[in-house]
Amino acid sequence: MHEMGIAMEVLRIAEESVPPGMTGIRIQRINLKIGRLSAVVTESLRFCFDVVAKDTLADGAELAIEEVTVNACCQDCGHQWTVDQPVFVCPACNSGHIELLSGRELNIESIEIEEEDDADADQG
Ligand SMILES: [Zn+2]
Repeated sequence: MHEMGIAMEVLRIAEESVPPGMTGIRIQRINLKIGRLSAVVTESLRFCFDVVAKDTLADGAELAIEEVTVNACCQDCGHQWTVDQPVFVCPACNSGHIELLSGRELNIESIEIEEEDDADADQG
């Protein structure tokens, strides 16, 4: 279950992003970009994150996950396209010499922090 390892890594990075000495704050939301080829089950990742974030700065933080499509580039003819099937052959020239441009990433785009004193302004 590699979602647990990813959840711990996301939490570690999120906690490290909080400036040292900052107190009375809470990590409210973490914006992630995850490539479709990274084989992450987003529901599972959310569940694991809730578990590992318990009693940390990110306790109750929302994971906002954006799935990134898989884009490939043919090394032979330069054709670029979005891969929507597990067959990696250039649709323009049938070459199998393909470079993946995106789809494997797991990036933390941004982390939103709130001060606990202002927590009652939430409409959600
Ligand atoms: Zn090609």
